[in-house]
Amino acid sequence: MPHFCFHDELNDLLRPELRDRVFEWPCAERATAKHAIEALGVPHTEVGRVLVDGRPAGLGHLLQATDSLDVFPTEAMRPAPGDPAPRFLADAHLGGLARRLRLLGFDTELARDAPDRSLAHLADGDGRIVLSRDRELLKHRRVARGRYVRARTTEEQLREVVAHFGLREGIRPFSRCLECNALLRPAERGDIAGRLPPRVAAEQTEFTLCTGCGRVYWPGSHWQRLKAVVSEYSTVPTDRSANAEPGS
Ligand SMILES: [Zn+2]
Repeated sequence: MPHFCFHDELNDLLRPELRDRVFEWPCAERATAKHAIEALGVPHTEVGRVLVDGRPAGLGHLLQATDSLDVFPTEAMRPAPGDPAPRFLADAHLGGLARRLRLLGFDTELARDAPDRSLAHLADGDGRIVLSRDRELLKHRRVARGRYVRARTTEEQLREVVAHFGLREGIRPFSRCLECNALLRPAERGDIAGRLPPRVAAEQTEFTLCTGCGRVYWPGSHWQRLKAVVSEYSTVPTDRSANAEPGS
């Protein structure tokens, strides 16, 4: 039987008795490394280097009974200046995370209850990184890039994704609609007259308009709470660019 050893954070995804040790695992004839690794609970999107008997191998490697595999996680991304920001597709259960990524300016679609197959298709066609806590989805062959989100709370999930994908330099807070993901643009009071509650119309002077759903944002009290979230990630002053209050 082939031997396996999973390294570092991949151990999170194994059954407890298989963690942090070398173990034997029976494989079907002509099984590939991908088959075996995914059967053990680790989606291919989580896997970086694979060594067979100490030599680099691909996930398509056909397993031999004498093989000894070392499986390492994907490394955290370190984007170079000028690299385009990654774009994401969050599964339906990660709506809070999707809104937080939009708050930081990252293009993040939310898949609402799409079956795995169509969701994978969407990610494949659009080049998006799939964020999910559903391992079966991440095992889909059409999901080229993804992340099994370990953290359970929205704020911890955001920290995990920002760190793993090296997002800090690409943060553009309050540039994107929290509801529909489209870009926001500055709006004149005249553009939105009649759509504001009287108190807001009297007190606020800065507005932004969603270019997708038409929602109007202004820096109200909810915005103060969002600003606290943003300030954890950004050293850029938010006062000039920050116009986000889910309003109308
Ligand atoms: Zn919108």
